[in-house]
Amino acid sequence: MSDYRLSTNCLHAGYVPGNGEPRNLPIVQSTTFRYATGEAMGALFDLEAEGYFYTRLQNPTSDAVAAKICALEGGSAAMLTSSGQAANFFAVFNIAGCGDHVVCSSAIYGGTFNLFSVTMKRMGVDFTFVSPDCSDAELEAAFRPNTKAVFGETIANPALAVLDIEKFARAAHAHGVPLIVDNTFPTPVNCRPFQWGADIVTHSTTKYMDGHANAVGGAIVDAGKFDWTAHADKFPGLTTPDESYHGITYAEKFGLAGAYITKATAQLMRDFGASPAPMNAYLLNVGLETLPLRMARHCANALEAARYLEGHDKVAWVNYPGLAGSPCRALVEKYLPHGTCGVVSFGVKGGREAASKFMAGLKLCSIATHVADAKTCVLHPASTTHRQMNDAELAAAGVSPDLIRLSVGIEDPADLLADLEQALAAL
Ligand SMILES: *Cc1c(COP(=O)(O)O)cnc(C)c1O
Repeated sequence: MSDYRLSTNCLHAGYVPGNGEPRNLPIVQSTTFRYATGEAMGALFDLEAEGYFYTRLQNPTSDAVAAKICALEGGSAAMLTSSGQAANFFAVFNIAGCGDHVVCSSAIYGGTFNLFSVTMKRMGVDFTFVSPDCSDAELEAAFRPNTKAVFGETIANPALAVLDIEKFARAAHAHGVPLIVDNTFPTPVNCRPFQWGADIVTHSTTKYMDGHANAVGGAIVDAGKFDWTAHADKFPGLTTPDESYHGITYAEKFGLAGAYITKATAQLMRDFGASPAPMNAYLLNVGLETLPLRMARHCANALEAARYLEGHDKVAWVNYPGLAGSPCRALVEKYLPHGTCGVVSFGVKGGREAASKFMAGLKLCSIATHVADAKTCVLHPASTTHRQMNDAELAAAGVSPDLIRLSVGIEDPADLLADLEQALAAL
């Protein structure tokens, strides 16, 4: 499938029906799978043979969709998770445990910030947050001898800062650790982080990939290029025997292409059980089929909305990476030349209060804790998703108290602009 272009792979990668088999990806709604002998099933438990035995670990519908996302990102192996949160947790925890440290961009999704700075910190994993536009020296100073990974978002939610992937990859590799990039906002349609040196990509598939507010989900993709064995002392989980799997050494048995995802499946899915429902994987697959069409429309509509807001006298500021005046312009030209995402952030004059009034006045755009939906939605992060953060943390995450996050859908842009117009007129 890798010979086909992205739009073709969105339709065909991951599942090729045989003679007389269903044309559409079947939903294998079964927790378990039958085997003729106990020995045959035992080989699966030992990771000696490939096959399905229990949907918590693997399921054919989910695996087909993971294979499709793997092809879209150009990776070597991938897995689905039950949410984007689970994807980011697994992606980091697979290589960083108690006593370890991770360097992380400060401009990240609020849920991820909380996962890292509160919950994983309680598990003994320490994070140092650096501004995505930090200098090389500042980035360098964030590393410690026990650093195991670097993490960032291609386009940060909701700050919309663009990550200099090559800069972060270079720093990570100089310290013998991989770069993990959450590529939720651009999707592989607009950016493929592996091309720029990222080693692992994560997704909240809940967003554009599903695209219709149908199913919460996540994905992890491995480029298969990071050499765990060259830094064996840092990654004992991949380079020394796993006693919970009869002494298998993942890097040895599954190679660089398969070690990371096999370990995450065999250990983390087994123990934490954040597996997607087959039905949700099916819905995600339907969304993926039209991803390139929707991304183009999201981006075109968002640019139109951003330009409209920029020219409105009741609007204090607009941030959209696709605008000519964006501070991220150079990074956008390099990493996102064909489009960024459908999310625009802006502030109305009058701050927090005016923001609430504006939101209440919207008719077509719905107030929802969501982004990247086919239907336009709008949110005030400081009072919702980011409400745990104090003002300093908000500032570090690039979220001002008056920030309104507008996730532009694929409606007719004239109707969208009319809705913004009437809500602004009422201020
Ligand atoms: C939404 C989101 C997440 C969390 O994903 P869920 O599917 O909601 O668990 C992680 N990263 C980014 C960039 C997101 O937008």
